[in-house]
Amino acid sequence: MDYKKLSVAALIALGSSMVFAQDAEIATWAGFRKAAASFTFDDGAPSHVSDCGPLFDKYGYKATFNVVTSWSPDWNGFGNMAKNGHEIASHSVNHGNPMGDNEIASSKSTINEKIQQKYGMITLAYPNCTVPSESQVLQNYIVGRICNGSWKGMADEMGKDGPSNWAQVPATMTGDEGQIKSTNDFTGRMQKVIQSNGWAAFLTHGFQGKNNGRATYSPTDLSAIEGALKWAQQNDKDIWVAPMGYVAMYIKERNASKIEPQDGGAANSMTFKLSHTIADNISKYDYPLSIKVKTSWSNVEVTQDGAKLESKVDGGYVYFDAVPNAGSIVVKDANASVESSSSSEVESSSSEFLCDALIPGCGDNPWAIAPEIQDNFHFAVYRSFDNYIVVSGAQGHEITVFNSLGHKLRTTRGLGAEQKVYTGAKGVYIVKVGNKTRKVKL
Ligand SMILES: [Zn+2]
Repeated sequence: MDYKKLSVAALIALGSSMVFAQDAEIATWAGFRKAAASFTFDDGAPSHVSDCGPLFDKYGYKATFNVVTSWSPDWNGFGNMAKNGHEIASHSVNHGNPMGDNEIASSKSTINEKIQQKYGMITLAYPNCTVPSESQVLQNYIVGRICNGSWKGMADEMGKDGPSNWAQVPATMTGDEGQIKSTNDFTGRMQKVIQSNGWAAFLTHGFQGKNNGRATYSPTDLSAIEGALKWAQQNDKDIWVAPMGYVAMYIKERNASKIEPQDGGAANSMTFKLSHTIADNISKYDYPLSIKVKTSWSNVEVTQDGAKLESKVDGGYVYFDAVPNAGSIVVKDANASVESSSSSEVESSSSEFLCDALIPGCGDNPWAIAPEIQDNFHFAVYRSFDNYIVVSGAQGHEITVFNSLGHKLRTTRGLGAEQKVYTGAKGVYIVKVGNKTRKVKL
């Protein structure tokens, strides 16, 4: 008996090992990053569909687009952006100053009729920065967005718990008339919230030299935003770029959720319950929270309600994203299950073979990058130990790999539960499955 087998046998002999509540922790920000940043775009400009959405997609980031429902927004274009993970939100019906209180609910129902969104239509940006009936806003939305906080005697950035009033969420104006003009202005603001573990939001209209429709106020240099996204990608371990509504959901869920061990712990697995009871009916509050659980296991499999989650082990913890109120989370020692379940020797070292779910252990030990479990089907993208981009859960879908410049490198079809799709030089790659994208680093 070799040492490894001996140690597994010893663990089994010991039986249960205690799991304590403090062994599991919910991250302040997704991916245990230090801060969050949200980019919001007002007025439903044609350039938002033609230029801005594709720019964010190129870097694997998502933004919030606040449309004015009577200004004939490109519903088809914005609908496709919503399918691609962007947030489409309200900017009133008529853009009055102030907007009519009746437009608070009616703009929401119009957008909900036109556009299907996974997390619903949950945020509103006030036209002309004027706050309508706060109580009606908070009956319909989880966020009511103003403009610069400093225009209201508040700070321009928020702390980790968001604003003091969710009907007055600040966002800093960009462009000719704003205080954020250059890439350095954007990155300076993001660096500031990284220092404070806070949240920065930006408010942009159209872009210099683009087709902006009625979004003519304070045009912003689109290349300044591109520079900001490049910087964010280089600092991805610190800054979480996500739509305003998703960040708001994350904060509310994080502050209301508990993660609790469900038993004393078995030799090879731990079970946790992640739950909250948030009272309002506006959102389902089912945005995934980032979790870490203390472990001494080197190879861990995490499932929630039986479905495998992306995970990575690092520095004595296993990291993963899970949805509150969505079933038991089981953290399992994957080495132990392979040893105990197989008497036949299964080798996963032959790197030429595509991994297949039917081969136990093949493709294990994935190194998850930017875990984001937010789709109807549980597809995941990660780097294998031998430096391949691996896609799982994409059966029947088209898989396309792009480099960070958006050039298509390979198109293939999802076959097995898990397959290697590409290997190449070090860098960031974008993997598109169906109409959803993921970012992965090699
Ligand atoms: Zn506006």
